[in-house]
Amino acid sequence: MAKIFCVANQKGGVGKTTTTVNLAAGLAKLGQRVLVVDLDPQGNATMGSGIDKRKLELSVYDVLLESASIAEARQRGEKSGYDVLGANRELAGAEVELVDLERRERRLKAALGEVSNEYDFVLIDCPPSLSMLTLNGLCCAHGVVVPMQCEYFALEGLSDLVNTIKQVHANLNPDLQIIGLLRVMFDPRITLQQQVSQQLKTHFGDKVFDTVIPRNVRLAEAPSYGLPGVIFDPSSKGALAFVEFAREMVRRIDSM
Ligand code: ADP
Ligand code: MG
Repeated sequence: MAKIFCVANQKGGVGKTTTTVNLAAGLAKLGQRVLVVDLDPQGNATMGSGIDKRKLELSVYDVLLESASIAEARQRGEKSGYDVLGANRELAGAEVELVDLERRERRLKAALGEVSNEYDFVLIDCPPSLSMLTLNGLCCAHGVVVPMQCEYFALEGLSDLVNTIKQVHANLNPDLQIIGLLRVMFDPRITLQQQVSQQLKTHFGDKVFDTVIPRNVRLAEAPSYGLPGVIFDPSSKGALAFVEFAREMVRRIDSM
């Protein structure tokens, strides 16, 4: 049975998609079988995994509306080493279309159940909101990975996310927990970032991953080549950090 994780943070541009595709590629390098689910209508995780979102015949949208199974809609990752259930603009409509449907927040969970034994990890790239789409992700996950930039307002947004996770835990998914906070785009030369990083450690202790992802231009360049940084430039600092993070995830899961 796969372990399912949401990569979530309701802020945009904090590194969710970069974390999803590079953690997936890192886990694949370690021999893990991985499925990435793109739950963001922007389709960045899809494109960043080398799949053209404009050419998708079936996507996560069809899975949520139960007109396709994941086995039918997923793309096999040849270059990336992991499979992808892709997304594109069509997914934005699902938000509205799901409202009147029954079990609307459990659609993805039901669909994942059918392929769960084919994977060790499922990573869900969430949109920058606490919407019905994110709720579908949170309902099927064992845990949430929260990428964070060590900036002044980082902690402020976190409390909304923590409250949402608590509510989902209480009402919809008793398995759900925060697996950890991942410090990303870290620049050790900036004193404020060191201070916020230290604050995170003080407040959240073991919930903060040991691995820190540095700010690294190769990670930002990789998506334009349709590859995760881990594959685009395996010896870059960013790629090495994500492979180390994949190892840390495997260790955490083993001790869960
Ligand atoms: P989100 O999915 O939360 O919106 P992204 O993963 O798309 O965030 O990241 C936002 C931008 O920051 C992207 O342009 C991405 O390439 C860049 N980026 C993310 N992580 C890093 C990093 N560690 N170093 C440099 N650039 C990064
Ligand atoms: Mg994104």
